[in-house]
Amino acid sequence: MKLILLGPPGAGKGTQAQRLIDRHGIPQLSTGDMLRAAVAAETEVGVKAKAIMDAGNLVPDEVVNAIVAERLAADDCSSGFILDGYPRTLKQADSLEALLDVRGQHLDHVIELKVDDDVLVKRVSGRFSCAKCGTVYHDEDRRPKNEGVCDNCGSTEFKRRPDDNAETMRSRLRAYYKETSPLVGYYHCKGTLRSIDGMAPIDEVTESIEQILR
Ligand code: ADP
Ligand code: ADP
Ligand code: ADP
Repeated sequence: MKLILLGPPGAGKGTQAQRLIDRHGIPQLSTGDMLRAAVAAETEVGVKAKAIMDAGNLVPDEVVNAIVAERLAADDCSSGFILDGYPRTLKQADSLEALLDVRGQHLDHVIELKVDDDVLVKRVSGRFSCAKCGTVYHDEDRRPKNEGVCDNCGSTEFKRRPDDNAETMRSRLRAYYKETSPLVGYYHCKGTLRSIDGMAPIDEVTESIEQILR
């Protein structure tokens, strides 16, 4: 199954992707996670991407397209994948299509998570994640079951993203509406788009996605 989760920052793409990995045994390809790993490792890409990400702008298409091309070539992507946060521009969508064409693959579904801006800001402001396994939490809506202990891996270390603040969020939302939202029309025309209510509780959103995948 080849899937794109499309939606603004904080829509719940990562949260839903983490659940789909377990249920469907396919990898999550998050360009945000890949870029943050490059920043942490201080690679050439990471050094250039850091300032762009901290400002809430989009990393150049060529850079992200190259990262995804390399990742999609890995063995674990042969039977399926969940793209989370990619593509984010029409150029990226074209690059992805060319890449899949060469491999004789096609997308099964593009699932758009729709969430109002005021809720997105609240979600991103309260977001934190496990420093070890990356499980995503929220200060109010999604705390670990045992306070201070990751549900998934038992780690007691958590982290917050430097770009998860109200000011950077404004740039990220602007980038979304300007650069990424045209993809809704793009995939609608291709017949692969399904839009769902991302404002519902996490379990209900998962159920809406599963209904599409059935
Ligand atoms: P969110 O999950 O909040 O939408 P991501 O983790 O996907 O955020 O992305 C964080 C940042 O990484 C973005 O603001 C952008 O700077 C960069 N980034 C991630 N994916 C892409 C992409 N496909 N194209 C360009 N920049 C990207
Ligand atoms: P994205 O990957 O689209 O940026 P995340 O999955 O990281 O979004 O979710 C952003 C924040 O909102 C996280 O703190 C997460 O726990 C929370 N969240 C995700 N989905 C929901 C939901 N359906 N209802 C309430 N909070 C949610
Ligand atoms: P500014 O006036 O600072 O340039 P914008 O007009 O770009 O700001 O956008 C302000 C906010 O309005 C954005 O952060 C976003 O949340 C929201 N917004 C912008 N364009 C759209 C759109 N097409 N659909 C829905 N919300 C939008």
